[in-house]
Amino acid sequence: MGKIKIDYIIVGQGLAGSWLAFEFLKRDLSVMVFDRNIEETSSKKAAGIYNPITGRNMVKTWKADALFSNLEFDYSHLEKKIRAKFLHPIPIYRPFKAVEDQNDWNGKASDEGYLEYLKEFKEQSIGYDDIIDPLGGIILNKSGYVNIPVMLSAMKTFLLNKGAYLSEVFDYDKMKLNSNTALYDSFEAKKIIFCEGSLPENQFWDLPFRPVRGEIIDIECDFKSDFIINQGVFMIPKKDRITIGATYDHKNLTFEPQESGIKSLEERLKKIFKGDFRIIDKQAGVRPATHDRKPYIGLHKKYKTLGIFNGFGTKGVSLAPYFAKHFVDVLTHRDEIDQEVHVQRVN
Ligand SMILES: Cc1cc2nc3c(=O)[nH]c(=O)nc-3n(C[C@H](O)[C@H](O)[C@H](O)COP(=O)(O)OP(=O)(O)OC[C@H]3O[C@@H](n4cnc5c(N)ncnc54)[C@H](O)[C@@H]3O)c2cc1C
Repeated sequence: MGKIKIDYIIVGQGLAGSWLAFEFLKRDLSVMVFDRNIEETSSKKAAGIYNPITGRNMVKTWKADALFSNLEFDYSHLEKKIRAKFLHPIPIYRPFKAVEDQNDWNGKASDEGYLEYLKEFKEQSIGYDDIIDPLGGIILNKSGYVNIPVMLSAMKTFLLNKGAYLSEVFDYDKMKLNSNTALYDSFEAKKIIFCEGSLPENQFWDLPFRPVRGEIIDIECDFKSDFIINQGVFMIPKKDRITIGATYDHKNLTFEPQESGIKSLEERLKKIFKGDFRIIDKQAGVRPATHDRKPYIGLHKKYKTLGIFNGFGTKGVSLAPYFAKHFVDVLTHRDEIDQEVHVQRVN
């Protein structure tokens, strides 16, 4: 019986698979996306923040200029195409922890490389009664959060309407790999790209993943904010709650929220927030992080019809759209793969 020819099979419809599928479709390449539809995925548990200035030292994140130049445009374009609202641009307020941070930013505030990300430099508290910020801080542009579950659900409907989605577990034993094509069930594809996220069971790739569990909690309180506040924890203001996160644990890789994680969030929250609150929800997930904190992208060394698009770690929201474009450029011979993310750096 003849096979159904498609350009690419994508395994996994998390943040990574969704962006990759969208990028292929934009370029008139056909896809079939497989997803096993479970709740225990990194994308369904994520807080969804995108933030150009990260880490304790508050420096530009890796590849910030490339990643952030089109990020909000890309998400709002996707919103229009798949008819859903999930992008929430909100300035991030990062209070200074020490006088040294304040001094450091006194210099950086006029640095050309930082200007586009800096909305305001505050030498004094912003004046929220419940927030402990005696030294002021920086207020950032090009930041906010994406409601990833809403995005994924709209993307699934979009793909289903195109006949490009199958709700099933992809079974590696059913693959037949030729030199130019990959066969799977009734399909014949140019390539199969794995976007399986954390803890993949896939035996074809032996990669040094370094998955990291995280908890987030939702609290109910009277506090209202125009900013995401980020010092020790982040506080994302939503209509009826504030989302607080996140923890990092490389050992206990479970999707069950742990008491120790919740406690640590509460303790850190109290260092920045004086108000009363009540926890109304707890979530945990495992991030698909890698040994060098950079994604694994590219084709398999031995099986040229297999590819991978994974390892987006703690920053999938800002990395996935940019690298989906890049990977499709590489697959369509418009670009050479960026060696920093090339999967063959490790296998
Ligand atoms: C607590 C927490 C907070 C986070 N906060 C942020 C944040 O604020 N900002 C940010 O940018 N990132 C954040 N992240 C990280 C973010 O979630 C990830 O970077 C991103 O979601 C990874 O997406 P993914 O598509 O690679 O993986 P996943 O979301 O895990 O998706 C993989 C998909 O593949 C499917 N799948 C796997 N194997 C198969 C198979 N064999 N057959 C069929 N389907 C399969 C799974 O069901 C799943 O749907 C957070 C993560 C956690 C856990």
